[in-house]
Amino acid sequence: MAHSIAPQRDETDRPSQRATQARATAAPGKAALVPADPSPAAVRNTRQKEAIREAILAADRPLSPEEILSAAQKGVASLSLATVYRNVASLQRDGWLQAVTLPGMPARYEVAGKAHHHHFHCNECGKVYEMEGCGFEFHAKLPKGFLATEHELFLSGRCAACS
Ligand SMILES: [Zn+2]
Ligand SMILES: [Zn+2]
Repeated sequence: MAHSIAPQRDETDRPSQRATQARATAAPGKAALVPADPSPAAVRNTRQKEAIREAILAADRPLSPEEILSAAQKGVASLSLATVYRNVASLQRDGWLQAVTLPGMPARYEVAGKAHHHHFHCNECGKVYEMEGCGFEFHAKLPKGFLATEHELFLSGRCAACS
């Protein structure tokens, strides 16, 4: 679960010149807070995080923190926006969640690691939708000799509900 991106230890004991150590020291302190701790606070934190994860998984589009809050409150009514922000940051550090940032707009969040896809922003209701796959071709417009290796774009307009 939360441990999926724990740095893999290289057990061969090499001398001290391991550059990876600098990276490894940044995260583990946080991960160490996760273990089974039956205290009420820990149980509450776990339930909050689970409600947030479930809200994000149940959505078929990237959610803003406010949208995560209202969806997750169905599971844990006492949830606050501050708690959502804290868990969003934590889930990003875990590598489970990633930000969807469209120009000039506050971030939305979706499960990390999805296949290449694009987003649609509804100018009426403000929701951001996911568009599966990619049919965009730019190669014909490139100057001679240029090679595009990546692209980033989104569409905007009105969603079905707002049309
Ligand atoms: Zn809409
Ligand atoms: Zn694409």
